[in-house]
Amino acid sequence: MDVIVIGGGIAGVATAYQLRAAGHRVCVIERHATVAQGATYGHSGAVLPTPLDIWFGPTFMPHRLGAKNGVIRKSGFNRAARGFVRRLAALQDPAAFSLQYSRLRPLIEASREAMGEIEARHTFDFEQASDLLYLVRGAAEWQLAGTALELLRQYDMPHQVLGAAQCAALEPSIPTTPEFAGGVQLSGERTANCPLFAKLLKQALDLQGGVTFQFGREVTALRFDNHHAAVELAPPLDAAPRSREVDVMRADAVVVAAGAGSLPLLERVGLPLPLHPLRLHTLVAPIAHEECAPHRAIVDAVKRITITRMNHRLRIAGAAVLQSASQTSKPLDPALSEEALALLGQATHDWIPGAAKISAALAWEGVKLLSPDGLPVVGNALHPRLFVNLGHGPAGWGLACGSAGLIAALISGTPSGLPPDTLAALRPERFRG
Ligand SMILES: Cc1cc2nc3c(=O)[nH]c(=O)nc-3n(C[C@H](O)[C@H](O)[C@H](O)COP(=O)(O)OP(=O)(O)OC[C@H]3O[C@@H](n4cnc5c(N)ncnc54)[C@H](O)[C@@H]3O)c2cc1C
Repeated sequence: MDVIVIGGGIAGVATAYQLRAAGHRVCVIERHATVAQGATYGHSGAVLPTPLDIWFGPTFMPHRLGAKNGVIRKSGFNRAARGFVRRLAALQDPAAFSLQYSRLRPLIEASREAMGEIEARHTFDFEQASDLLYLVRGAAEWQLAGTALELLRQYDMPHQVLGAAQCAALEPSIPTTPEFAGGVQLSGERTANCPLFAKLLKQALDLQGGVTFQFGREVTALRFDNHHAAVELAPPLDAAPRSREVDVMRADAVVVAAGAGSLPLLERVGLPLPLHPLRLHTLVAPIAHEECAPHRAIVDAVKRITITRMNHRLRIAGAAVLQSASQTSKPLDPALSEEALALLGQATHDWIPGAAKISAALAWEGVKLLSPDGLPVVGNALHPRLFVNLGHGPAGWGLACGSAGLIAALISGTPSGLPPDTLAALRPERFRG
């Protein structure tokens, strides 16, 4: 089949890869000049989500921690934003969290397998590093992490629960004063460079053939009839004024994998999705003192701040700003931006003092979609020729590879290997009525 994939982030590139592997011809349409320029550019490194860093559950935005929960809330929420927060808060209930995680779990494992196959075939070097250390500050947070620890045990995920002194022994850059509750080491999990991975995947597709990339083109509308799917494209920015008419490109199927840009396209064809854009921040700082720098990635498990070492730099990411969706497309108020970057700087100072030269750090912010039930939106929707792959959350770039496999299976009419309750939980139409 001929398939159009909208979006050249990790979700779009991974989808193109899996579709090609299944024998389809693919055209990826991306409005930027190359791949990995959206949320994919700003990732913090963690490849797959674990019960300790997924963006829902008892440790995500707990009310009792107030402003210390790592998410900056902008006042003046509209109804949609309030509804989104309420639905996510329902997943703080341990039983609801465990059930939702159990539905996601098969996709995590399928993604691990899909990445393994890609790496075995191409021997890519994308700055992979094993071992993550999740750190927890106080007794109250440690108690909230109990359900996540239970899930690690239940799913036999190799891990070690450590006291504060053991954390410091493992990673001497972490000070034991002031006191903190402890941590969890997951040596089987890893970090890597997401945009580099997306670029390597694109290069492999270029060499292989069968996938074309149309850069600098923006899809403005989707069209479907019984025989074809089509996308309308805005004229290229450099087009002569008299030729500035709409181009239409036809295919047998369209996959919308355009990150935050997916929402208006889908809404216009009758699929409004209640996903919420979260603004996230990164600081890339040079290492100040090598003897103070960590040798493995560190995650503040409650604030959801990840500190990853990449050669001679530290990448510090998190500091979500929650505001009404309409405000996310406007520049962030400088005071909020400062607050977010200060949160990242403070976390670095608390956990690995002296390691990073924050004053010389480069700041970046990007928007990431989060769904109110914490799960990505993957599958067929509305029309037999429309497919969706988005909303993997701020801890799921690796998920894009498994989701891409699911899309390829659906388009090819082959079994995906995922259980029915996972497929139902990922369906784009699950939010309707
Ligand atoms: C600061 C930050 C830190 C993060 N840290 C992590 C982490 O540690 N681990 C993790 O797993 N995840 C992390 N994430 C999330 C992760 O980066 C995303 O889940 C992932 O990159 C999303 O990929 P995507 O392809 O869906 O979206 P994007 O990367 O946003 O790609 C969408 C693409 O579609 C294009 N597009 C949009 N609309 C159109 C249109 N109409 N026509 C043509 N093209 C269009 C955009 O230009 C963009 O390139 C982080 C995100 C941020 C912002």
